[in-house]
Amino acid sequence: MAGSPSIHVFWHEGMLNHDTGYGVFDTGEDPGFLDVLDKHPENSDRIKNMVSILKRGPLSPFITWHSGRHALLSELHSFHHQDYVNELVEADKNGGKVMCCGTFLNPGSWDVSLLAAGTTLSAMKHVLEGQGNIAYALVRPPGHHAQPTRADGYCFLNNAGLAVHLALNSGCEKVAVVDIDVHHGNGTAEGFYMSNKVLTISLHMDHGSWGPSHPQSGSIDELGEGQGYGYNLNIPLPNGTGNRGYEYAMKTLVVPAIQKFEPHMIVLVVGQDSSATRENILSKCLTAILLMVMLYDVKLFVNLVYIYLIVMSLHFFTFKLVRSKWKAMLDDGWLLEIGQIISELAKKYSSGSLLIVQEGGYHVTYSAYCLHATLEGYSTYRLL
Ligand SMILES: [Zn+2]
Repeated sequence: MAGSPSIHVFWHEGMLNHDTGYGVFDTGEDPGFLDVLDKHPENSDRIKNMVSILKRGPLSPFITWHSGRHALLSELHSFHHQDYVNELVEADKNGGKVMCCGTFLNPGSWDVSLLAAGTTLSAMKHVLEGQGNIAYALVRPPGHHAQPTRADGYCFLNNAGLAVHLALNSGCEKVAVVDIDVHHGNGTAEGFYMSNKVLTISLHMDHGSWGPSHPQSGSIDELGEGQGYGYNLNIPLPNGTGNRGYEYAMKTLVVPAIQKFEPHMIVLVVGQDSSATRENILSKCLTAILLMVMLYDVKLFVNLVYIYLIVMSLHFFTFKLVRSKWKAMLDDGWLLEIGQIISELAKKYSSGSLLIVQEGGYHVTYSAYCLHATLEGYSTYRLL
């Protein structure tokens, strides 16, 4: 129902069946030197935890769950070229294909890709029909690196891009996409590079082009072409930009750009890989200092151990206390703030309607908490 405080989450368990395998980081390769290999960063565990925190966390009473669906092949052509879709279909028929570095279309992956695309389309349709203001497509594999003619960065189909086309084809004249994944949303930018109907904004680390599958630089001079000139806004940020830097970029660049564009629909593309886990860093730093002191002065070491234990106890207590109020992200309050900023924009320009699409975020446990914080930003706005 329109105006409902619910966040409408679109999800399907079948999306766990994209098996990306093991290797040295995301290579899928085992050179034979190691006993224990990494799970591919884009694995089902990260999504399982996102599902469970939304089902069992404090936001759970405010979430309405919807089942996702497969996209039809005919629905893919709004964003992707026919030849590329054919290549993916053939790759699936042939038992899989390495589409590019670290991006494996394995047996079952194509079915899951269609499920991610279709589920995102269902979420957008839900919002377009006014059945709910905020819909969140909890999908994998991610999509924002997938370009009209090629896969990239674990992505095969551009889920958000397909949803944008659905909005345009349903009467929305202008759509704004804000991408806060830590990587450049190159696929989405590429898909709408010549369009003045879609404003694509990406805040990302300044990683530049990373190979043939990702020729875009993500730099500020990629502004769009033709009618689309001025409708792509890249905001590369230095590593360690932090909360206040993101807030500054949002308030001085993103918000004014959206205010000028006046979109009829906003799509927020979220990746929790832009978060940090400072608790662990604090603990590791203190441990390192203690070990260094132990080498030089045993008495001082014993005293410092007491101080260490007190500090960590207080830290733990504070963390638990704040978590109990579910401002869970001690060092990621900005995720919540971004949620509030985008909510305000959606309220002003799209009657509160907003589609949120899941992208990256590879820390298996922390990403789930970050997701909770992000969605909390919207629920706070909706529930107050
Ligand atoms: Zn990413």
